[in-house]
Amino acid sequence: MNTANQMCLECGKPLKGRRDKKYCDDQCRNNYNNKQQHGTDEPVRRINHILKRNRQILKEALGNDRTIVLAHEALLEKGYDFTYHTDQFVTQTNQVYHYCYDYGLKKNDNNRYMIVKKMEKKN
Ligand SMILES: [Zn+2]
Repeated sequence: MNTANQMCLECGKPLKGRRDKKYCDDQCRNNYNNKQQHGTDEPVRRINHILKRNRQILKEALGNDRTIVLAHEALLEKGYDFTYHTDQFVTQTNQVYHYCYDYGLKKNDNNRYMIVKKMEKKN
């Protein structure tokens, strides 16, 4: 490996000294690690937030009903994000349910969605 061009992972300055050095000093190492931590966690937090919001929207829309049908626009207005779901279920008749945790929806005709609560699985 060519060590002549080794640079600090944090500030990009050329490194001198030990071959296995990755940072100028402790400060650069700490800054880099903090950013990594933040950088990897942020999307997780963001997507978890969307999934929880999706679930809350479905839960509130469904209330105590077993199923309810809502227009695509109505879901969008509530802030539902169709990009994210936790899992999907395809029935034998090729109906696709997308779930956010224990609440899910299935696309019907006319741009409408049927909202359901996941059945408890009994072993
Ligand atoms: Zn540095």
